[in-house]
Amino acid sequence: MKYLVTGGTGMVGRHLQQIKPEWRYLSSTDCDLTDERAVDTLLEKENPDGIIHLAAKVGGILQNMAQPADFYDQNIKMNSNILIAARKHGIKNFLAILSTCMYPDVVENYPMTEEDVHLGPPAQANFSYAYTKRCMAVQIEAYKKQDELNYNYLIPCNLYGEHDNFSDSNKSHFITALIQKIMEAEESGNTYITLFGSGRPMRQFMHAGDLARVIARVVDENIKVSFNVAPPNQNYSINEMARMSLKVLAHEHWEIQYDADKPDGQFRKDVSCQKMVEHLGEFEFTPLEQGVLKVYNNIKTERIKRGL
Ligand code: NAP
Repeated sequence: MKYLVTGGTGMVGRHLQQIKPEWRYLSSTDCDLTDERAVDTLLEKENPDGIIHLAAKVGGILQNMAQPADFYDQNIKMNSNILIAARKHGIKNFLAILSTCMYPDVVENYPMTEEDVHLGPPAQANFSYAYTKRCMAVQIEAYKKQDELNYNYLIPCNLYGEHDNFSDSNKSHFITALIQKIMEAEESGNTYITLFGSGRPMRQFMHAGDLARVIARVVDENIKVSFNVAPPNQNYSINEMARMSLKVLAHEHWEIQYDADKPDGQFRKDVSCQKMVEHLGEFEFTPLEQGVLKVYNNIKTERIKRGL
């Protein structure tokens, strides 16, 4: 089976490459997905059996707040162009990667299930990015209904992992940014780190390699159901995550300061993984301590390679 992976050069894409090297991985230079004609030409030429759509404009909270229009325009175009072209060219399989930030900002009962997506508006901090993910779910459901297409999506929680963009703090995700701060403090001899907001928001974190393994299984086992992907029974506050990371890196006595002028983002967005377990069975996630250490060692190696 010939599979095309958009966003193949991103963090998740590079983990997926290790599991499925035989698939074709695309970057934005292979095809700019915001360009409708280029996407149409790509699918006409490639005619794959399936598409894994990872590509997105992804960023941290400050970047989302500063550029809501760019996040909306680029993501809505990429998502819509690739889905419309896939339908037009009769592509049989399509798996999109959405995000738990598309869920409502607040609901009555946690963890949220797949049925809760439309219960209320997403959080303000990344409202436009979140809406483009919701729109993609709506578009896929519409295609399934009208054309009985076997298209589906996964909704992962916050991700971290090797191959994250550690040199641009606007782009790196929370755990990478945290490890960067710890490394900078190590280098300057400080024994404290400063984080955004209050440290109280809670998050589920998953290693990007775990999501890649789920994607591979969904394709290999021909699972045509959409579901959340997140480790069960896990919802740590930012403060707990930072404490745990400092402990793993042998800095348990360091101080954590909070910059209250910076935003917290959504307070909680934990999702249920019951539907995932129904379809995949018990899934072994990378323990956070192990994942944090892997990312720390990877950034160290990369920095040495790049002479930083
Ligand atoms: P990433 O590291 O930021 O990579 C983004 C990818 O999208 C890159 O390969 C990039 O290509 C490609 N891309 C960006 N703009 C493009 C365009 N105009 N045309 C074609 N390709 C374009 O992202 P990630 O962290 O791997 O995330 C993968 C997916 O998971 C995304 O859909 C994201 O929304 C979702 N997700 C991520 C998280 C998280 O915490 N990271 C959490 C939940 C869901 P270039 O390398 O050429 O720029």
